[in-house]
Amino acid sequence: MAASYALLLESVTRTYGSGRNAVTALDDVTMGVPRGTFMAIMGPSGSGKSTFLHCAAGLDKPTKGGVTLGDTRLAGLNEEQLTELRRERIGFVFQAYNLLDPLTVADNVGLPFRLGGVPVPVDRVRAELANVGLDDMGDRYPGQLSGGQRQRVAIARALITGPDVIFADEPTGALDSRTGKQVLELLRGVVDRTGQTVVMVTHDPIAASYADSVTFLADGRPAGELAAPTPEKVADRMTRLGDR
Ligand code: ADP
Ligand code: MG
Repeated sequence: MAASYALLLESVTRTYGSGRNAVTALDDVTMGVPRGTFMAIMGPSGSGKSTFLHCAAGLDKPTKGGVTLGDTRLAGLNEEQLTELRRERIGFVFQAYNLLDPLTVADNVGLPFRLGGVPVPVDRVRAELANVGLDDMGDRYPGQLSGGQRQRVAIARALITGPDVIFADEPTGALDSRTGKQVLELLRGVVDRTGQTVVMVTHDPIAASYADSVTFLADGRPAGELAAPTPEKVADRMTRLGDR
């Protein structure tokens, strides 16, 4: 059953602190992200979105319950194996791009291989740069690119290992709406053309409308799903969840 999901969370609870100071950031969350789909995660501030992302990506460990990526149960892995899994089977796209400024664009895209100590496949780097519409930019440096172009480099770097899941954390948060739209169209296209799986945390109903479905969180618990989301429907749900 797990194999039809790129990502499966089963009864995941994450509690911070203990005793009277304990905060339950995720409370018995069960959800699966089918392969080849684009899911958005939304919820008010403090609802557990970041904790969800960190547990799902093996950056944090659930207090209870389990996470399965493809057919790998994360609970069975040691730190070294988790590091390798994050490098090879998970792609990350952050609001702040997280590119290395002293490296060229091509070297940034090839970074997962370099960190893994294997030769960088130059053809793959070139193909991924073309894939995100930056064919001729490989020799430039991040500082010479616009915000939208930098985010495209980050997406190429996330794609290059052929990960089971790409996690995007507010990927358009630092972009103007026109550039943000290009990045969302790129993510949408990656899912449609290559069967990639994308899980995106966002605060923006327009961004969420690019997903196949939206899962809402409130107080650490799933608070409904919306298939075929429109910005209006998403905004309406968010208002009812108590978001301004
Ligand atoms: P969101 O990303 O939706 O804003 P978070 O996952 O960051 O929500 O946080 C969910 C809850 O867990 C909040 O109440 C937050 O204060 C708490 N929390 C998050 N991280 C920690 C931590 N490291 N220590 C203690 N409490 C935390
Ligand atoms: Mg957060």
